[in-house]
Amino acid sequence: MDDCIFCKIANGGVPAKVAYRDERVVAIEDVNPRAPSHVLVMPIRHYGTIADLADAGDAALMTRLIEIATRVGRERGGKHGFRLVVNTGPYGGQTVDHLHVHVLAGRPMSWPPG
Ligand code: AMP
Ligand code: ZN
Repeated sequence: MDDCIFCKIANGGVPAKVAYRDERVVAIEDVNPRAPSHVLVMPIRHYGTIADLADAGDAALMTRLIEIATRVGRERGGKHGFRLVVNTGPYGGQTVDHLHVHVLAGRPMSWPPG
């Protein structure tokens, strides 16, 4: 998508601090971190939301996203653990309409979310 900031980052057109990259997935440091470690794991191909990816039926990509997010969470959170978040749509608090998994670590997380 031409006007999507995360497509531009995923395709290298906009700079970001890349934590991981493979042929289908990229992970970047969040520019406005909400925890000592805050990484965004996203597909390189544009999907607006996780529901769009589910509709597309690409189970391999869905699995890959969660695998990479879990790997990053383990690396960053260690024995203390981590949190994965996928904000979806307006009520879900999504502000960038390109599917991404937040990986938050480095402090205790509260519940419920706001
Ligand atoms: P969400 O509100 O769930 O859609 O999350 C969007 C996240 O993207 C927020 O945590 C932002 O801080 C982050 N973000 C927005 N623009 C950039 C950027 N250019 N580079 C890195 N992170 C970004
Ligand atoms: Zn996009």
